[in-house]
Amino acid sequence: MSSPTFLPLDDVVYGEAVQVAPDVRRVIAENPSKFTYRGTGTYIIGNGDVVVIDPGPRLDSHRDALAAALKGERVRAILITHCHADHSPLSEWLKAETGAPTFAVGPHETVDEPEGMFEGEEELAVPPDPSEEKEEEDEVKMEESTDVDFVPDERVTDGEVVVDGKGLTMRAVTTPGHTANHCCFSLEESSSLFTGDHIMGWSTTVVSPPDGSMTAYIESLHKVADRADATLWPTHGPPRTDGAEYSRALVEHRLQREQQVLSFIDEHGPSTVPEMVRVLYADVNPHLHRPAARSVLSHLIKLVDEGHVHVADGGAIRIAAAFAR
Ligand SMILES: [Zn+2]
Repeated sequence: MSSPTFLPLDDVVYGEAVQVAPDVRRVIAENPSKFTYRGTGTYIIGNGDVVVIDPGPRLDSHRDALAAALKGERVRAILITHCHADHSPLSEWLKAETGAPTFAVGPHETVDEPEGMFEGEEELAVPPDPSEEKEEEDEVKMEESTDVDFVPDERVTDGEVVVDGKGLTMRAVTTPGHTANHCCFSLEESSSLFTGDHIMGWSTTVVSPPDGSMTAYIESLHKVADRADATLWPTHGPPRTDGAEYSRALVEHRLQREQQVLSFIDEHGPSTVPEMVRVLYADVNPHLHRPAARSVLSHLIKLVDEGHVHVADGGAIRIAAAFAR
């Protein structure tokens, strides 16, 4: 089985627009963490008349860097891949500053969380270590990281041309999974796809139910693989010129994990998510075990939907429930 090769992004310069391709500049926000890697990459497409993808987090230094990068330019559109707090919030400022309209699939969908869905997750909590205070903070941030206030001016649909003329043709490519409203944007002129958090250059993404869906995520990975764009530009991490192959490897990686979940249940009988995480993620930093539990839960929701697994105690699908074949 092929496993995805993750690539590093080194020599990051914060607070400056860096030309990364003939029509593309990137400004990286200084919000590095174990979820955002080196930080949020905001893309500026074109020259003179420009498009901005994911203005980023509410961070003064990033706002100032964008203001400097966009000096003398006309912003014609602000494209939002999804509403996590490191992607959409600064669009409010940019829109007020420039009058440019915002485009996205929609606001963050507030899905009712089934009662007690994450109950039992605290079993995986790691005792705080003063030397790793920052990681603890990040963990908290990850769970409260949605920009629920964002509402786009224009709602986009799959395949729609959202920017046209002056040498730029950009389309919406809807890719639910990481979030229900996730959307990539293509730049047709250079066969580029801006992949937001759907595909990251340096790591797999987080798929956290109930808004995140493993079934949708895997379908969206196939969708990107079939497009075969020349270059993928993730928000976090380096560009990928092996997009089709990489996307398929990401699918394989998830299906392998799914197989491990099934094998675990076969071997141990009815099992809860924390029991599975401790074994299946034994080689992963324990601070990442809680997000891993969300990911395993998203696999189990898919497996229950497909009839491969059921909830052994007859209750709802949740982290504390026991799952059986
Ligand atoms: Zn995200």
